[in-house]
Order: sequence, then C-alpha cells, then structure tokens
Amino acid sequence: MKPDILSLSLNEIRDLIAELGEPKFRADQLYRWLHVSKATSFDEMTNLPTKLKEALKERFIVDPIRLITYQESAIDGTRKYLFALPDGNLIESVRMIYHHGISVCISTQVGCRMGCVFCASTLDGLERNLTVGEMLGQVYAIIRQTKERVSNLVLMGCGEPMDNYDNVVAFVRRISDADGENISQRNITVSTCGLVPKIRQLKDENLQITLAISLHAADDEKRKALMPIARVYSLDELLTAVREYYDENKRRITFEYSLVRGENDSPEYAERLGRLLNRYFDHAHVNLIPVNPIRERNFSSTEASSVYAFQKKLEKFQINATIRREMGRDIDGACGQLRRRYSEQKPSSDPVGE
Ligand code: SAH
Repeated sequence: MKPDILSLSLNEIRDLIAELGEPKFRADQLYRWLHVSKATSFDEMTNLPTKLKEALKERFIVDPIRLITYQESAIDGTRKYLFALPDGNLIESVRMIYHHGISVCISTQVGCRMGCVFCASTLDGLERNLTVGEMLGQVYAIIRQTKERVSNLVLMGCGEPMDNYDNVVAFVRRISDADGENISQRNITVSTCGLVPKIRQLKDENLQITLAISLHAADDEKRKALMPIARVYSLDELLTAVREYYDENKRRITFEYSLVRGENDSPEYAERLGRLLNRYFDHAHVNLIPVNPIRERNFSSTEASSVYAFQKKLEKFQINATIRREMGRDIDGACGQLRRRYSEQKPSSDPVGE
C-alpha cells in the first residue's frame, strides 16, 4: 500500500523533491497544496509539472481519509464523523461548537489497548497507530466539509496519544505550523491515561500544549480497578512526572475525573482527590465528567446534585473544578463513546455531505 504524502514534514518533502531532480521551490508549492489548500489529489496541483505529479502518484496517495458519513446532534449541533482509512479501518472524529469557537476531537489510534473499564474505544483492543497524515486528514476533512475555521483541538478520540508518541508529537508540530493550518499549540489538548515515561519524554519537546491527565481515582486501589495502566504506574509516580512536566513547561495541567455512580463520586472521594492533588500542586484544575454510559458496561453517571457537591468539596481544597458539558451524547459522540463498532462493515463508496 502506498504511504500518504500528508505524513511528510517539509524537510522530508524537500529531500523528496531533490531526489526527483526538481528545483527547490517545488517543495514549498507542494507543501502549500497539502497543508494550506488541502488538496485531495495530485491532479488539483495545477502549478506543478505533470512529470512531477506522475512521479508523486507512483509513490504516494494524497489523502488517507475518506468521509463515509456523519451524524449531527439535535441537542447541540455536535457532529460525529466516520472516516475510512486506506486499509479499510474506520475511525471517528467529533466537531463541537463552543462560544469560543470550533473544537475538533480526533482519534490517534484505531482502537486502544489501555483497557479503561468505562470506555468504549478499548472494547476491541488496538488495531494500529494512526499516521501523522491520518491525524491531519481528520482535521482537514472536517474543515473541508464545514468550511469553518477550527480554533481548538483535543486528542481525546479513540486511542491513547502517548502510545503513538512520535506520530502525535509530529502531528502537533505540523498542525500548529505557521505555514500550514496554524492552530495554536496553546489551543491543543493532549489527553493521556498516564504513560509515565512518555510524559517525561514530552516534557522536553518544548510544546505549548495543554496536557490532560485522566485520573478518575485518588487512590491506587480504586484507580487499578478502573484503569489497568494504574497497575504499571502508581499515582505517586504519575503525579511526580506531571509535576516535573509542569515545572519545565509552566503550562496548566488539567486533571480529568469521570464520575461513576457509586464508584468514585462520594464526598470522601472528593476529599481524597483534593488532598492528593494538593500534595503536588498549589491550584490544580480538575475537569469533572459525569460518565457516559456505554452499552457493554453497567455504569451509570452521578446525579447532578452529587456532581455539584463533589465540585464544592474540591473548592474547599482551592481546586478549580469545572463540569464538562456533555456534547453529542445523543449520537454516541461524547467522551468514551467512540468505538471501532463499524469495523466489520465494508466502507461505502458513496461518501455523503461533501
Ligand atoms: N486515552 C486518552 C484519551 C481518551 S478519552 C486518555 O485516557 O486520556 C478522553 C477522556 O474521556 C479520558 O479522560 C477518558 O478517561 C474519558 N472517558 C472514557 N470513557 C468515558 C466515559 N464513558 N464517560 C466519560 N468519560 C470517559
């Protein structure tokens, strides 16, 4: 199968152009076609010579993402997109409308191998990592389809971003490139269940992104019951690495805490969380997510009054807690509801909506 050319960096494109015996400026032209015009075929690239286009066609495909369909939430206009990849795998992405702009949530892997008990993305395990081009392609396809400017990006779809580290870091650099889509790194959130060595590595990448840590419990025992990764890294190891990340980058960290009724949502758990975070941070920021039920599991979300009580309790610990507004729940587009469900279906050759 031919690789996608969207995955190449500008330097790699320069090397390719040199190898093909073309003048240097062709590299910038090609890069612009890919990352500014968002071309989906070499034929569109009208200012490139035919000979070059033919040579490129032999080696690469342009766009690894094919829009199959999308659903729109009747409640909040959230759209969930289903895309096909060149090998037939299917992935989902979500576009949300906030008062501050448009936010897109992308997948970083086909499936996931982290096994968090409340999450649908992990039910069928990991199929493979996404390429840089497959991550860019999700954003570009949504921009093409909506004609909207995307202001925020969250890497919270299917997959564990830190389990696809190199591609995710390359993706962040590319999508924030001033000569490309130019989404500010400050508006990009990368969420991880806590792969400690990767957090340490990320610390030195000098990125301006927001790091979000999926905590979901304030003691190792409870965390192990919800998230298998907690059997590998203790909360102390995780929070020590996160603190080091903060000291290096001085970018606010967000802690995510999904509230599961009767599991981790009592006032005692809030106190435990408050005490834990205060050991590592002066003013931590927590995002509370009432769990979104998934069919295969028997979890229900915490009732609103207990969510507020949890939030109030955290405030006593000087912790700023926001309650995540659930978007796209009616189309299974909310946190933890994205899945590989369609994997067995044959992609349709008749994309809609474009
Ligand atoms: N693998 C990354 C990104 C995945 S999802 C991570 O673990 O952070 C983004 C957030 O949604 C994570 O905090 C995840 O734990 C949470 N989540 C997963 N399933 C959920 C569900 N059913 N309801 C609410 N939040 C969920």
